[in-house]
Amino acid sequence: SAKDTRNGWKRYASEMNLKAKEKLLLENDLRIALELRQFHLAYQPLVDLEGGHLVGAEALLRWDHPQKGSIPPSEFIPLSEESGFILPLGEWVLRTACRQTKQWQEQGYPPLVMSVNLSIRQFRQHDLCERIEKVLEETGLEPQWLELEITESIMADVAFATAMLERLKKIGVRISIDDFGTGYSSLYYLKRFPIDKLKIDRSFVNDILTDRNDAAIVSGISAMARNLNLTVTAEGVESEGQVAFLREQRCQEAQGYFFSRPVPPEQFVSLFDAEKRS
Ligand code: C2E
Ligand code: CA
Ligand code: CA
Ligand code: CA
Repeated sequence: SAKDTRNGWKRYASEMNLKAKEKLLLENDLRIALELRQFHLAYQPLVDLEGGHLVGAEALLRWDHPQKGSIPPSEFIPLSEESGFILPLGEWVLRTACRQTKQWQEQGYPPLVMSVNLSIRQFRQHDLCERIEKVLEETGLEPQWLELEITESIMADVAFATAMLERLKKIGVRISIDDFGTGYSSLYYLKRFPIDKLKIDRSFVNDILTDRNDAAIVSGISAMARNLNLTVTAEGVESEGQVAFLREQRCQEAQGYFFSRPVPPEQFVSLFDAEKRS
């Protein structure tokens, strides 16, 4: 009836209202969190499968909320992207990760490539290159040690993406396509874009030992990447069996809980030390 519809609408409207209020509160919390230094970065190793050594790290954002505890990025990155807060937050991540990488180099650890996730909002900033150059200058990190992870979503605007990627390559940073296989990438642009690496999404890697289709997809992407002269990294590697399969497929690099979870910097250095001993 009309009354039910009205009640339904009312309920919907009040839920919407709550949602909007909650969003506003969370957004406010995020801004304060950045000022109060409640964010930190966890680092997860990238391992070369042939030699078994550490080649890189991915910086992953963590929020230690004073009341709610550790909040995963899946709960605040989407809202940060929506509100635009990802711009200052992403720049903080970039600066912190670059500074950390430089510090490890200065402490005498073998140099590694630091991967930083770049939101599509950041990618679309017209002054992105200037911002990155400024961070590199401030932290003293040479560009070849910085890798930017972007998703296939950037291909929605091919002309802009091509121009931006070329400008980024001129700076000398590395580019990787994250979550590869889950978006709408055209293989044609893979060849045309100046990219260095494909990261095969975890959803394909999960079942490589039991699902023939997933196994075929992963070995196919590895072969294609090799032929296109791209590095390939398998994400979400959790078992020895998966490592063996990936080695067989000549997949170059791997990342996942099998090697290490993302850890705070103090713990990451013990991975370097383990490396030296082995
Ligand atoms: P992502 O870029 O695909 O990062 C990899 C995610 O997979 C991380 O989740 C990592 O903890 C998780 N992971 C790694 N190895 C394994 C494994 O073996 N098994 C399983 N089940 N998971 C594994 P996390 O840290 O929760 O991050 C989730 C997403 O949030 C990231 O996915 C990325 O899209 C986004 N994110 C994180 N930090 C940042 C950031 O600084 N900026 C931006 N724009 N996005 C970020
Ligand atoms: Ca990533
Ligand atoms: Ca990924
Ligand atoms: Ca599957």
